[in-house]
Amino acid sequence: MTTPHTGPGDAAPQPLPAAPGADQHPALALVNTRTLRPTGAFDDLADPPAALDWLVTTGLLPARRSGLTAAETGRLRTLRECVRDLFTARLAGEAPDRTALAELNGALAAAPFTGRLHWDAAGEGPRLESRPAGGTPLDAALTRLASDAAELLSGPQAEAIAACAAGDCIRYFLRTHGARQWCSQRCGDRVRAARHYARTRAAENS
Ligand SMILES: [Zn+2]
Repeated sequence: MTTPHTGPGDAAPQPLPAAPGADQHPALALVNTRTLRPTGAFDDLADPPAALDWLVTTGLLPARRSGLTAAETGRLRTLRECVRDLFTARLAGEAPDRTALAELNGALAAAPFTGRLHWDAAGEGPRLESRPAGGTPLDAALTRLASDAAELLSGPQAEAIAACAAGDCIRYFLRTHGARQWCSQRCGDRVRAARHYARTRAAENS
């Protein structure tokens, strides 16, 4: 089996499908915005327009608004690296970097969500909604991402956080099946093809 090569001039390599768990956990999706592709490192948050697009697509910003600043994009990328550090520490069973933990707790406090009771007597009746008590829309997005990361790391699914076993992949996923090792079928196929190639070469050379 051969893997099609992506030419060096190919600026938009095929995106990988979302890793298991990333659709349910925006923190996992955030970590996976930085990937390695055949053309090299790829960043879905490379610049403010790309970061805004990701936030809107992920539903973390309600609608297109005025663009993100470079500083806001930097805050999002900093949180991403913190969550990655915390996932890595959790997998290694080690204490995390204190700065990463402080950053995450800072993001948690950026726009604390509080409950509001709405009452529509003619319709659904009472309804409890969680809304940010203050801060900017980006603060609220960072708080939601940090909350999701904190719940994932401290909750029952923490055991399922896994790093893709493909040596050239840096994505994380939730191991929903006991034996799952790859973030995607593409990674599994690539590793199996490489092993097959190595075995064939070894047999030819023996
Ligand atoms: Zn992978």
